[in-house]
Parts: sequence; C-alpha cells; structure tokens
Amino acid sequence: MNKPIVAIVGRPNVGKSTFFNKVLGKRLSIVEDTPGVTRDRIYGEAEWRGIPFILIDTGGIEPGTDDIILAQIREQAEIAIETAHVILFLVDGKEGLTSSDREVASILMRTGKKVVLVVNKVDTGTLPDHFYDFYELGLGEPVAVSAANMLGLGDLLDIVVDNFPSAAEDDEEDDRVKIAVIGKPNVGKSSFINTILGENRLIVSDIPGTTRDSVDSPFLWRGEEYVLIDTAGIRRKSKVTGDIERYSVIRAISAIERSDVCLVMIDATEGVTEQDKKIAGIAHEEGKGIVIVVNKWDLIEKDTHTMDEYRKDIQKELVFISYAPIVFISVLQQQRLDRVMELAKAVSENRAKRIPTGQLNSLIIDATMMRQPPSDKGKRLKIYYAAQIGVKPPLFSFQVNSRELMHFSYSRYLENRIREGFGFEGTSIKFVFREKGEKEDV
Ligand code: GDP
Ligand code: GDP
Repeated sequence: MNKPIVAIVGRPNVGKSTFFNKVLGKRLSIVEDTPGVTRDRIYGEAEWRGIPFILIDTGGIEPGTDDIILAQIREQAEIAIETAHVILFLVDGKEGLTSSDREVASILMRTGKKVVLVVNKVDTGTLPDHFYDFYELGLGEPVAVSAANMLGLGDLLDIVVDNFPSAAEDDEEDDRVKIAVIGKPNVGKSSFINTILGENRLIVSDIPGTTRDSVDSPFLWRGEEYVLIDTAGIRRKSKVTGDIERYSVIRAISAIERSDVCLVMIDATEGVTEQDKKIAGIAHEEGKGIVIVVNKWDLIEKDTHTMDEYRKDIQKELVFISYAPIVFISVLQQQRLDRVMELAKAVSENRAKRIPTGQLNSLIIDATMMRQPPSDKGKRLKIYYAAQIGVKPPLFSFQVNSRELMHFSYSRYLENRIREGFGFEGTSIKFVFREKGEKEDV
C-alpha cells in the first residue's frame, strides 16, 4: 500500500516547521543519508502506531504585502488539497483567529479531504479564551497542541492515522504499471504526457479501484494497459507567486508515492540541476523504479561521442541512482518515445522480480570466494544464508555472524554481484542483515 500523505498548511509563524521537525524527530536523519542528495526539509517519513506516512511542510510563503501573502496561502492550500490525504491546518493559539485563517478555512472546506484544525502554541494545557473562536471556522473541533513542548501531539496523530484511506480503498488489485513523469518545470513533462496519451489514450469510465485517483490516465501500449499518473498541476500551469521550487517538489512527491516507475525528466540544454537531484532522490528513497529521460535532445549539437559523454556526466551527478537506465529523447521530434516505454516496462518487471533462494545462495557463495568478507580483530564476517524476502523494491535478507563486520564497501560489492548476476536495472535493491536468533520480520 502506498504511504498516505499528510500536509501541513498555515500562515507564516504559526509553527509549521517546528511541528514538522518534532513529529519527524530523528527519523529525518535517516532520510538525509543518501549521499549526493541535497535536501531541505520539505518532506519526511514518520510513523505512528506502526503506520508509516509522509509528512509535508508546505511552507513556501515568502514575505510580501498582505495581498501577496494571501495569494500564496491560497496556493499553498490548493497544493495540499491536490496532494494530501489528510491536511493539518495550523493556526496560532497565542494570536487567536485571523482573517487569513478564515480565507484558508473557506478553501479547505470545499474539498472532500479530511482537514484537522490544529491550534498550536497552547503551551500550558489551559485553553486561552479565544480558543473557542476557532470553532467559527466550521472545520470541527480544534485540536490544541504545543509543538515546541510536544504537548498533544499523540492525540493529534491518533486522529490523523484514523483518517487514512483504508487498505480496502487502496487498489491492491490493480496490476497495471503506474508511471509518474517527474522533473522541474519546463523540462517537457506535459508535452511527453500529451504525446503518449494522444496516441494511445484509453477512455475508461468505471474500472474498479480507479475512483480515488480519477485524474490518472490509462493508456494502451503494445496491447498492455498502463496508467500515467497525472501530477497535479503539471498540465495546469501554476500561477504561483511564492516558492515555485518547493511546490513543484511537493507535487512530485504525491506522484512518486502512487507510482511504480518514475520517469525522471531532465532538460538536455541544462544538464542535471540541484532540483533534479532532489526529485530523483525522493524517487530513490521511496524505492520506485527509475528511468532517467533526457529530453530536448534535438537542441544539442552532436558528434559521435556526445551521448556517451553526456551519459557519464549524468551518472556522476546522479551517482545514487547509477542503477537507472538513461535515454535521450525529443518529445518535439517524437524521438525514442517507444524506447522510454520499453524501459519503463522492463524496470517495472525488474522491481517485481523474485530470485529463487538456491540461485541466490550459490551466487553469494561464489562472491564470498572471489572476495573474502572483511574481518576485524581476528573475527571474520560469515554469511550463512541469504533469501529474497520482498519485492517492489527487491529486499534481501542475510543471516550473518555479526552485523558489525558487514562494511558498506562489502555490501556494495554484494549488491554489484547480485545486479550482475540477476539484472535489476532501474530499481534500488535493499538489504537487511540479521544475526542468528533474530526474528524474521522486517
Ligand atoms: P512556520 O513559519 O509556520 O514554519 O513557524 P515556525 O515553526 O518557524 O515557528 C514560528 C515561531 O513560533 C518560532 O519562534 C517558534 O519557536 C515558535 N513556536 C512554534 N511552536 C510553538 C509552540 O508550540 N509554542 C510557542 N510558544 N512557540 C512556538
Ligand atoms: P513541463 O513544465 O515539464 O510540463 O514542460 P512542457 O511540456 O510545458 O514544455 C516546456 C517547453 O519545452 C514547451 O515550450 C515545449 O514546447 C518545449 N519542449 C518540450 N519537449 C521538447 C523537445 O523535445 N524539444 C524542444 N526543443 N522543446 C521541447
């Protein structure tokens, strides 16, 4: 099941980023681990009562006149509505109800999304007199918290988790490959989507399980049905003032979360930018299949080496997804668009592939004979047994004598051998190491 998305909205200074950081706690540092990914704190993974979810700080409001700030707050609310399952609307319990709170509330009310009204900065446990004003917003019972002092967060998270879509609403049955086209503005995403759909669109009215994401577009390619995830706002050109980059990353997150394969689209005339790295990094961390698509190749002056050199540059910049295939296309000239689809199909198959335990173990035995496992103070790493225990992305479990002895470089070596042996192009693969006697669940 895809992780539910929770978005925080509210005007500047109500405590959004404080709240965000407290809820994510130290888990954030795990997300920050991917080398080569630059990250500011827009999103993180959290967990409550054992249920993982994604928390987004919509932030992104820059100082301006009241009118400008208001326009930005509206945009922020709309982005939360497009992308989140549950919206946390933060207001300031010290300051009391303001007119821009009313504005936001009226936008949020017009959606089917669950909105929780969170009154922050209630530090003492006693509700201020003006607390009751917040009922006027018509968003139900306000929940009092103090983000700074971590008061009331547990009760709030209970409400959040209770409002997640149930597993039954999730379209587990749907085995169509879902493709998200992600990348910064103007790389050619909507041109690509329109071209693919223009040729292959499938008009369907009532496929079970498609109700929730009714904006997604099914299409037929070589006799099989696929779904293009319509990243909210890609085709509708944003009128945003405010932090455009943040908003485009937020839109990408919700598309990535629902996808099997992400086409990370890069503009050939610009090369890999920081924002590209950020977006690709999220797809990687979420364990999605990835194809790197370099668009506008028609604008590049080429000789016989151009493509190879360009490929090397990309691999250097996006080293954390060196497993992803790269394809050079021109949407404008309809060049290699079928190749993109071939790769997307292959990557989605790789991501779901299962390696039989016998074959895996003989490859691991060979690998440990070719290169001795590391040792420390006379004790050498032993791998007793390996098994693939999950797919999408592939997850491998290794029984070892001591986890401490499994150095990063050796696990990288094993990963490379597994990739050479079994071909997992386009998908990350994950490892867990267990010492004897540890239980099997992950
Ligand atoms: P944002 O602009 O909405 O992201 O707000 P920040 O998280 O940056 O917080 C704005 C200010 O409110 C900072 O000075 C925070 O320290 C303060 N703040 C945040 N949460 C609380 C709280 O629960 N109680 C109090 N008293 N101050 C808070
Ligand atoms: P999006 O913001 O990523 O959805 O990008 P668009 O699809 O709106 O494209 C942005 C601009 O790039 C438009 O002017 C397109 O016509 C242009 N464009 C898209 N694909 C190509 C291409 O393959 N070659 C060239 N030269 N221009 C392209």
